Amino acid sequence: MQERLLELQQEALQKATEATELKELNDIRVAYLGKKGPITEVLRGMGKLSAEERPKIGALANDVRAAIASKIEEKQHAFETAAVNAQLASEKIDVTLPGRPVNKGNQHPLTRIVEDIEDLFIGMGYTVAEGPEVESDYYNFEALNLPKSHPARDMQDSFYITDEILMRTHTSPVQARTMEMHKGIGPVKIICPGKVYRRDNDDATHSHQFMQIEGLVIDENISMSDLKGTLEVFAKKVFGQDREIRLRPSFFPFTEPSVEIDISCKICSGKGCSVCKHTGWIEVLGGGMVHPNVLEMAGFDSKTYSGFAFGIGVERIAMLKYGVDDIRHFYTNDLRFLKQFHTHESE
Ligand SMILES: [Zn+2]
Repeated sequence: MQERLLELQQEALQKATEATELKELNDIRVAYLGKKGPITEVLRGMGKLSAEERPKIGALANDVRAAIASKIEEKQHAFETAAVNAQLASEKIDVTLPGRPVNKGNQHPLTRIVEDIEDLFIGMGYTVAEGPEVESDYYNFEALNLPKSHPARDMQDSFYITDEILMRTHTSPVQARTMEMHKGIGPVKIICPGKVYRRDNDDATHSHQFMQIEGLVIDENISMSDLKGTLEVFAKKVFGQDREIRLRPSFFPFTEPSVEIDISCKICSGKGCSVCKHTGWIEVLGGGMVHPNVLEMAGFDSKTYSGFAFGIGVERIAMLKYGVDDIRHFYTNDLRFLKQFHTHESE
């Protein structure tokens, strides 16, 4: 019996030593130390032994069990340590490696132009007004003195969604909505920046989606000289203190009289160059005195109130200011282009 126990011990220790994974150890534990294992089997035969032998065999059986259990535990520890070491090795960080550079984003040039212009006008007491890009025909056209049959609607080829709903062709509907909210009581002093949509074929100077900033002032005794003074401040702020402006008569359905506003060419200082088509002047925006019909339709008494409005093409300003020759650069998300606007002038 003694021999059988030592034989089992030898066998179990051998198997535990050779085990290569945790599962094998568990199998050995169950096989040798379990209730159905051979050691228990041996102990069942103890009844046949003499009273002297019984405690000896009992003690030996305990020793054998302990030896096997301790070997299994030792081996289990070794496996666990090896697993932890392997994981540590695989997750090792080489602190001497150089870091990956973090790409720093910057403002899109159009956003910068819009924010600069917003700051300028907020400083002059304007508030920023916004409105929906999907607009009704009424606010986009009719409220701005462009009834259904008006020929000037053709100037603004539109993306219609239904007969009465379209993508706004200018930010003017925001003016119409704001005037309506004022319920005939001035003053109104807003600028409206935003995206607008026209059915244009995209080329170097046209885009089916572009940005506008419109301004509107309504109060008593507003005159053309207020418009001119305001736009002079704008031109000097955006293009430099030496710039001059000139007003040329024009036509827009929502203003009367209407003007185109030119600034003196920065590149040739008015002498004439290819940028200004040898005129010395560059057309930058349109404006005029708010048409009495537009005032009346929005609920203002045109005998008491008058106002001026102007519209700025943001891309055109950005192209002139930064010397960009193709409007599509602003929309193609080419990082080589966008990164050139990394440093803000005021930084
Ligand atoms: Zn020029």
